[in-house]
Amino acid sequence: MDSTEVMVSPDPTTRQVPDRLEALVDALRALLGDGAVSTDLSARERASVDGAPMSPILAAQLPLGLADIVVFVKDPATVPEIIALAVGHGIPITPRGKGTGNYGQAIPLHGGVVLDLSRASRILEVGDGFITAEAGATLIAMEKAARKTGQQLWMYPSTTGSSIGGFLAGGSGGTGSIAHGSNDSGFVVALDVVHGWTDPQLISVEGERASGYVHAYGVTGIILRATVKLEPAQEWSSLYASFDTFAEALPAVRDLGRSSPSPRLVSADVPFVANVLPSDPEGIPSDRASLRAIVDPDAVDAASALIESHGGRVEVVRPGFRGSVKLSMLSYNHPTYHLQKSDPDRYFHLEVGGEALFDRIDDVHAVFPGSMLHIEAAHTVPIGMLNALYESPEQVAAGITRLQEIGVGVHSPHQYYVDYKVDSARALAAVNDPAGLLNPGKLVT
Ligand code: FAD
Repeated sequence: MDSTEVMVSPDPTTRQVPDRLEALVDALRALLGDGAVSTDLSARERASVDGAPMSPILAAQLPLGLADIVVFVKDPATVPEIIALAVGHGIPITPRGKGTGNYGQAIPLHGGVVLDLSRASRILEVGDGFITAEAGATLIAMEKAARKTGQQLWMYPSTTGSSIGGFLAGGSGGTGSIAHGSNDSGFVVALDVVHGWTDPQLISVEGERASGYVHAYGVTGIILRATVKLEPAQEWSSLYASFDTFAEALPAVRDLGRSSPSPRLVSADVPFVANVLPSDPEGIPSDRASLRAIVDPDAVDAASALIESHGGRVEVVRPGFRGSVKLSMLSYNHPTYHLQKSDPDRYFHLEVGGEALFDRIDDVHAVFPGSMLHIEAAHTVPIGMLNALYESPEQVAAGITRLQEIGVGVHSPHQYYVDYKVDSARALAAVNDPAGLLNPGKLVT
């Protein structure tokens, strides 16, 4: 899909055939018991939403879909049979973790079954350099389990309560990504997955084969267990700094991101956005650009000197892992979330990336009225969220073109299609889901 395309074609929810739905409900209840299968409207509505309202363009189209049946999975061993039953009845299945994805990825556009995997959340093994967990395990639970063995996750998203299945299938990176890149850059060791087949099977994939399920929204298969990489744990310190202006903070973000040992996170915001973050007068003073970094304790002095050399002021340094999680929850899409909460219905955002964010910030900010970049140091080039005042889909599309002209990479969060490695996702889905029943509507054909 062309990234300039921000208009989604409303994909009318397909009414499922009532007889087949009823037969499937009976079969699922016989397999799992009544408590695991719900057709209550409130449960179906709760299972059919995610963070899509963060996009005014998607918000205008909601509800985009409604589950007919919600299945709560406790034991992943039951999933191959659940999928086989649903496929056998010709009913779609949309997997769901914690529903924190922000583009409608988890909305069941064609109704059918929403497979809620959040209760299948056991951590199965913490080994030397790896952790294995069920799909519903949260990233924060996995990080804590790893730390008990003197290790830490390569990365986790700012939504620390997201599930590992949802993070792999819908997310892309977060705290730890400066050193390790995206969640498709060697983070995944192995996956156990289920395909959209009538023959119930659990399939184990490793390495490159596992990559086909990352950021594919479940259209190539449903992740039941994941083994991901750990590294030796570091104690972390949370460093809060401020600058007179955002432009002064940018070179500090760039140089900190490239410093060694690698920080776990470096984020910065314009004063307006810093003012709407959760109140922390000691760390985030009013009306100043805010820079926040999670750094190795041995690097605090060097990081502080670097910040001061760029005209910044270190406000506070808080030692310890717990504080670093709090700081993570102010990164990536969270400033956008707080901005939108402070003034609903005014703002939209684009995911942006590239050196132009450092080099041409005035040009970047000039593209939209009220533009405010939230920036993250990342593995290769910086990435961020460009927040701005919303006028219309056409305004957003024209701005994307202009941003690309000035060298900014753009991902539009205003559509729900798979837009990562689309050709290989389509080829894999053709084999793994021949009837097109896994999260249908998310793959553009
Ligand atoms: P869900 O939202 O439930 O699902 C996400 C997608 O994966 C859906 O398409 C769903 O169908 C599919 N899926 C879910 N479980 C499975 C499974 N077991 N097998 C196959 N497919 C499955 N993302 C980041 O990468 N980094 C961030 O720092 C980050 N920050 C965010 C901040 C905010 C405020 C918000 C709203 C979102 C943010 N996101 C971020 C996006 C989102 O939090 C991540 O994508 C998250 O990891 C999704 O996890 P989840 O359990 O909520 O998945």
